Amino acid sequence: MCVFSGWRCSVADPTSAGVLYVVATPIGNLDDISARALRVLGDVALIAAEDTRHSQRLLQHFGITTPLQACHEHNEREQGGRFLSRLLAGDDVALISDAGTPLISDPGFHLVRQARAAGVRVVPVPGPSALITALSAAGLPSDRFIFEGFLPAKAAGRRARLEALREEPRTLIFYEAPHRLLESLEALRDTLGAERQVVLARELTKTFETLKGLPAGELCEWVRADANQQRGECVLLVAGWQAPEGDEAVSAEALRVLDLLLAELPVKRAAALAAEITGARKNLLYQVALERQSK
Ligand code: SAM
Repeated sequence: MCVFSGWRCSVADPTSAGVLYVVATPIGNLDDISARALRVLGDVALIAAEDTRHSQRLLQHFGITTPLQACHEHNEREQGGRFLSRLLAGDDVALISDAGTPLISDPGFHLVRQARAAGVRVVPVPGPSALITALSAAGLPSDRFIFEGFLPAKAAGRRARLEALREEPRTLIFYEAPHRLLESLEALRDTLGAERQVVLARELTKTFETLKGLPAGELCEWVRADANQQRGECVLLVAGWQAPEGDEAVSAEALRVLDLLLAELPVKRAAALAAEITGARKNLLYQVALERQSK
């Protein structure tokens, strides 16, 4: 027996229960749907869709007549029980969102969790996702990256989130709505610095696909000067933090403390105190302090 939000379900009998397929759909170009996705969407008994009217158009385009039922962020927890009943009764169900991979800044997490807890087999059918599509063509380091979803809509929350990411060395990836693009770029410039490299990946896989990489300050001006860049869907990718040249291994916080102390104390004393306060190596801070004084 498993329990979710007061809803009880029995645990699946693997021989008779259906399968929940998590199916990625295109983020613009319909040719990007996979042959396997089409086969699964045509074969299942039911499709759980974020917006049934939106997905109906996709299915119509491919001649798929499988019935759709809504599974969006407002009803997902309650509706989960209904989908689960169908799965436990032996029906296969496909989960799709409006575009890209379900659960990635899209509904589906609760249903997948409920299904797995009930012992239902969950099978991913991979395909497009805007963040991976953007990363694959942005030209920023892709060996390590973090996906931050959408930044908070309010300015204070947005800045606080970015402040916390100031010294993040991995490539940062954000989703953004077009009407907030400029504000977010300005916040990136103000918190991470005008020189930080940012790539705007807009309208991926569509007619007006644009990938533009510039330092944050210049990208703000480029977007401000062209209203077309403030339309459509976009992903922002930001180069990870790198210690300024010659200051390797010295965190921004240690540099801040060092600069404050250098304004009041001789170099040696400032370096020693900064090392004690921040835990950075004294010799390294001394070298950095000498370099900063000679500039
Ligand atoms: N589940 C989707 C995925 O796997 O990418 C993401 C859904 S999220 C609600 C929508 C956001 O994804 C948009 O605001 C935008 O940031 C990004 N996005 C989706 N399609 C895009 C595209 N064609 N070009 C650029 N960004 C896109």
